[in-house]
Amino acid sequence: MKKIIVATQNQGKVKEIKAVLGDLPVEVYTMGEVGLDMEIEENGTTFEANAIIKAEALKQHTDAIVIADDSGLEIDYLNKEPGVYSARYLGKDTPYTEKNQIILDRLKDVKREERTARFVCAIAMAMKGKETQTAVETIEGYIGYKAQGTNGFGYDPIFFVPGLERSTAELTMEEKNKISHRAKALRTMKEKIKDMLD
Ligand code: IMP
Repeated sequence: MKKIIVATQNQGKVKEIKAVLGDLPVEVYTMGEVGLDMEIEENGTTFEANAIIKAEALKQHTDAIVIADDSGLEIDYLNKEPGVYSARYLGKDTPYTEKNQIILDRLKDVKREERTARFVCAIAMAMKGKETQTAVETIEGYIGYKAQGTNGFGYDPIFFVPGLERSTAELTMEEKNKISHRAKALRTMKEKIKDMLD
């Protein structure tokens, strides 16, 4: 069976990846599980560039297929901030309740049409001797007027889905996984992995 190593220590992401790739003839491992423990500097200017940096750094150390992802939130009114700085935005250790409130304050009197935003997820797949491939997907939405919901993580309480008019923190994991940027990018990448296995 082919081995896939995921360039993350985040168990939530690993669980989601295993769920989507579950029916492929592959075994999914985290970096830690195969004894690879390295800090990779994400200094790209796009989500795609960062995913490639991570996947290609890791592929040097293994013969397995490597998958890396990078994701974040783009708010149009804030010139697409926080973007690739989503995790570090307003301080790496600042709680998201605070970060989300600061964003809501910055958008206080902004009209609904100007509150558009999207979550973006880029996934890169790399392997020695093969060309690196990427999948980039988004979920379009808007920043609400107040934080709502307790599911999910990060910016979920302030990111609202048009049509549902609920934040992604008010969706169950199953509901979010049907429409999320990460789930979409994973499904796109799954097709590329299938081609690679053929
Ligand atoms: P990374 O892809 O692990 O580097 O995560 C980037 C950051 O983007 C996270 O720490 C969150 O702040 C934000 N982010 C990415 N995806 C989501 C999501 O689905 N919900 C909420 N925040 C997200």
